[in-house]
Amino acid sequence: MSFYYEYEKLKELPFESYFQGFTEIDVKRVLAKQRMTPEDLLVLLSPAAEGLLEDIAQKAHELTVQHFGKTILLFNPIYIADHCVNLCTYCSFSVTNQFQRSKLSMKQIEVEAKALADLGLKHILVLTGESKTSTPVSYIVEAVKVLKKYFPSVAIEINPLDTDEYKQLAEAGVDGLTVYQEVYNEEIYKSVHVKGPKRDYRYRMDTPERGCEAGIRQINVGALLGLDDWRKEAFFAAMHARYLQRKYLDAEISLSLPRIRPHLGDYQPRSIVEDRHLVQAITAFRLFLPRAGITLSTREPQELRDNLIYLGVTKMSAGASTEVGGYSQCDTGTAQFEISDERSLAEVQQMIRDKGYQPVLKDWELLV
Ligand code: SF4
Repeated sequence: MSFYYEYEKLKELPFESYFQGFTEIDVKRVLAKQRMTPEDLLVLLSPAAEGLLEDIAQKAHELTVQHFGKTILLFNPIYIADHCVNLCTYCSFSVTNQFQRSKLSMKQIEVEAKALADLGLKHILVLTGESKTSTPVSYIVEAVKVLKKYFPSVAIEINPLDTDEYKQLAEAGVDGLTVYQEVYNEEIYKSVHVKGPKRDYRYRMDTPERGCEAGIRQINVGALLGLDDWRKEAFFAAMHARYLQRKYLDAEISLSLPRIRPHLGDYQPRSIVEDRHLVQAITAFRLFLPRAGITLSTREPQELRDNLIYLGVTKMSAGASTEVGGYSQCDTGTAQFEISDERSLAEVQQMIRDKGYQPVLKDWELLV
């Protein structure tokens, strides 16, 4: 079984007529319910729900406090290499973009880890471009061993791997896996992933499941909003998360909906996703999957991030760098995308406290 079979059925739904056919009466009916069905999610993502966004947000707030308390977990990305063999039209690291590629040595990773750990962070997300030759599993395993000296929680966002390879990484100390489908629409997927192993849509879609099977504790899925109609993409991402949540009861499933940011290259988003649309998608997620974590990165602007704390977000990056070696300046490269919220970690922590929430630096450590 794979989410792909569910996706194949779901993609045949008459999305346009559904979205245009729902009314505010449907939205009010859904808001009165305790448990949401996939059809209810479509109602919450529809244009009719825009007029009732405040009511949806209020319910999202209540559910988030009920399941997560008033806490925001802080983490940061750490880029250790930017070599990539794929041609993705929307990304600076795309193989055809000309810039000096970087890959940190273990010594440099240690320097970078110290610089990040000095800020007080305990949870990190290790990122590379996608290149099995430049950053093979053996390199990632060594890097994780270095990083584990400084951080109790190490997650990865790297090229998709086989289950056995994820098992090696889990044994080295990896406890989280982020892998975005980028765009669930299979035809658009093929058109924006022009070259490289990433063109294999099905292998990528099954990646979170391989991570679950390898025993990785926390799995984060999502879509890069802007590549297709955001309402449909948000729906598929939520259904993917629900599929994993139901099948892998031990795994903690999270969702992210990053929006396309300026980058090297001239790709223009197919769908414009305004701030209010992102709010609608995130609050709809919360109502549909009350137990799922929701992650928000520094791609999003300061004011929006501050407001989304109330509405469903449970995890945020802060003071982030999207360049290789960006914290210690040991080997700075090209940023994967432009950051929007440029506040420091301390400033974001203070903002969270000012809102009556608790910034959490550590909520997990594997005891061996
Ligand atoms: S999105 Fe990922 S796979 Fe595609 S070019 Fe960027 S780093 Fe490489």
